[in-house]
Amino acid sequence: MPHALPTFDDVLAAAARLQGIAHKTPVMQSRTLNEQLQAQVFIKCENFQRMGAFKFRGGFNALAQLNALQRKAGVVAYSSGNHAQAVALSARILNIPATLFMPHDASPAKLAATQGYGATVIGYDRYTEDASAKAMQLAQEKGLTFIPPFDHADVLAGQGTAALELFDEVGELDALFVCLGGGGLLSGSALAARARSPLCKIYGVEPEAGNDTQQSFRKGERVKIPTPITIADGAQTPMVGAITFDIIKALVDDIHTVTDAQLISAMRFYAERMKMVIEPTGCLSLAAAIQAAATLKGQRVGVIISGGNVDLTRFAQLLATPS
Ligand SMILES: *Cc1c(COP(=O)(O)O)cnc(C)c1O
Repeated sequence: MPHALPTFDDVLAAAARLQGIAHKTPVMQSRTLNEQLQAQVFIKCENFQRMGAFKFRGGFNALAQLNALQRKAGVVAYSSGNHAQAVALSARILNIPATLFMPHDASPAKLAATQGYGATVIGYDRYTEDASAKAMQLAQEKGLTFIPPFDHADVLAGQGTAALELFDEVGELDALFVCLGGGGLLSGSALAARARSPLCKIYGVEPEAGNDTQQSFRKGERVKIPTPITIADGAQTPMVGAITFDIIKALVDDIHTVTDAQLISAMRFYAERMKMVIEPTGCLSLAAAIQAAATLKGQRVGVIISGGNVDLTRFAQLLATPS
């Protein structure tokens, strides 16, 4: 094996590092949703995490393990938004200089937040430029530590602490739905789920337009697709990670997809019925649970909301889309 895969112990170690630093986010239920699905649905609300998404968990877990020399030199990362904010905030807490590559069309709110945390932001074109290569090149030139958005043992172990908290709060589940881009949240969640609730079915959920992980899962090897066009901007990854895919292959039961229209209807549900602002990517998990309702009757179901960072004008536009 080219790399030692992280284990549940790494998720537990991450939880200890995040203790008192990350929020223990609430788990919510909706009577309406439970009735609609004829199931008991436990919603883990990472939209209430620091910087508004689960990514703080992985970012902080990775940065907290850097040595004094690495901290002094600084870190570099690339992201369409939430990983940038996660690295920027973690770097600020740990007093580490941070440089972030962000796409020119990144959400203005995410861009402003990242700069607000004191990070240096460099723009790139997400459809034509390879941000990962640019970040790695800068890391090499300046002796910075590159923090990948998902394909990194410490990052994914940190992300797994969200599911760990969910299981520790509500006990075993029959099924767990997890939003999926590069697979950091899903692979970390799978490590936690297999340890805390061995029989729980684990499902990753991608946008239909960007089903690279579903294709990879079916084929047994990673498939790369052109950058997908979807409102789920946190899941516009062209290919699942190598480390994350090894864990997903071993532990995950299936990958589901949903359309942008289904995302908007889940987004509307969260706003109208639960009074929560959820970004399109954060709606993947609920949209898939609703789609799979017929198979979930009488079950205890976990849904992880990944984040809530969306510009309010964009949010209003999406909600105004006729359903
Ligand atoms: C990054 C992100 C995802 C995808 O996470 P991966 O670990 O890349 O699979 C999903 N939702 C939100 C809100 C994100 O920021």
